[in-house]
Amino acid sequence: MAKEFVKDVTSMDEDFAQWYTDVVLKAELVDYSSVRGSMIIRPYGYALWENIQKALDGEIKRTGHENVYMPLFIPESLLQKEKDHVEGFAPEVAWVTQGGDEKLAERLVVRPTSEVLFAEHYKNIIHSYRDLPKLYNQWANVVRWEKTTRPFLRTTEFLWQEGHTAHATDEDAMEETLRMLNVYAYICEEFLAIPVVKGQKTEKEKFSGAKATFTIETLMHDGKALQSGTSHHFGDGFARAFGIQYSDKNGELQYVHQTSWGFTTRIIGAIIMVHGDDRGLVIPPRIAPTQVMMVPIAQHKEGVLDYAYDLKERLSSVARVGIDASDKKPGWKFNEYEMKGVPLRLEVGPKDIENGQVILARRDTGEKVTVPVDELETRIPELLEEIQSNLFNKALNHREEKTSVARNLEEFGEKLESNPGFIKAMWCEDQACEDKIKEEFSATSRCIPFEQEKVGDTCICCGKPAEKMVYWAKAY
Ligand code: AMP
Ligand code: ZN
Repeated sequence: MAKEFVKDVTSMDEDFAQWYTDVVLKAELVDYSSVRGSMIIRPYGYALWENIQKALDGEIKRTGHENVYMPLFIPESLLQKEKDHVEGFAPEVAWVTQGGDEKLAERLVVRPTSEVLFAEHYKNIIHSYRDLPKLYNQWANVVRWEKTTRPFLRTTEFLWQEGHTAHATDEDAMEETLRMLNVYAYICEEFLAIPVVKGQKTEKEKFSGAKATFTIETLMHDGKALQSGTSHHFGDGFARAFGIQYSDKNGELQYVHQTSWGFTTRIIGAIIMVHGDDRGLVIPPRIAPTQVMMVPIAQHKEGVLDYAYDLKERLSSVARVGIDASDKKPGWKFNEYEMKGVPLRLEVGPKDIENGQVILARRDTGEKVTVPVDELETRIPELLEEIQSNLFNKALNHREEKTSVARNLEEFGEKLESNPGFIKAMWCEDQACEDKIKEEFSATSRCIPFEQEKVGDTCICCGKPAEKMVYWAKAY
């Protein structure tokens, strides 16, 4: 195998971190750049992001939001207007101190998130109850100077959407916060085939400046959790700091109530780590850039390529179909598109043409079936749907297998060791207990799930009476 070498990946059980790095590079999702922690998103990775974006943007618009674009820079004085917010973000912002040759009179931060920009704008455009609600979203890049970074999961610059809304009442804002959390859950489960746990973050883990933060938490193949999207309820905190007021129907001035919510390129890391295997990526059909990759067999033989291109044209009405007619060997191509996680491979050669059939190979199960060509328009969509739901079910089973209950710290440590994953345990709501668990086990509270179960009566840590069940895990 001199030139057409087979791209091998490290086995996931041997070294999961190395497996991840191998996959992101060999599936050609990213390349490293010369700035630590920032990545080049290559065409295949970007196509994946575009499909996720399309699905999410559709939901954002369906729920009544409008897209806008805010500036990249935030003046220091603006960032400082909301005390908790600046405290949380100051340690991880990038500063601009000079423009051309001149030192700036006021430093600028490269946006790590845009609450203050929206707040300043909202102060200018909201005057009356008739101006509410304001339902804005932006697709943008943001920069957070992270200490440790991994492609997609945690990068210094990432792509995301951030929704920022203003409402007349606290209840309206709360409703919006949960509505958008549900949108994230829907995108994850229906498009990405990733089951989520929905819940609220603890005080310790909530967003800087928020009254309450809600999250969707997902579980990766190695049993680590990933915070996959967050939705924040701000109450009137930013409105008071920025003076965003409207006159109500009685002509009285009221503060608005706000939310924000964000979903990032991190989710591509989740797709990799939830569905991938030792052969590489496995992409859920609904967001796969290519759903069916055609590999002609003995393509030098008369008529094979013409037939294949005609078939591709025909099938393009039911799926996103690609064809690799390069002069590489079929074996190399099989390997390549398995690495890239293309849901279905379609093999067609002289014999198949003669028999009026093709071979379809599933990426998720490896199963191969022979299908008459005139049934392809129905079989391909059926198979894609089967793959989609198989991936979801597999991920759900995996999560359930890796979810345990612990009743005391000894059990907690034992479960974390023997079956890494989510641990459900009661908590007294005292941050000291949360801190202790983090210190002792490097596990954090992932969320207080909406679906509560009483798995005990007392706090797993201090033994005091406890009302709340919490999901804990080691996390990315
Ligand atoms: P936040 O604005 O802090 O609520 O962040 C919104 C979402 O962005 C989080 O829920 C994470 O899923 C994701 N996220 C946070 N930091 C990063 C990062 N450095 N790289 C990629 N995604 C991130
Ligand atoms: Zn406790």
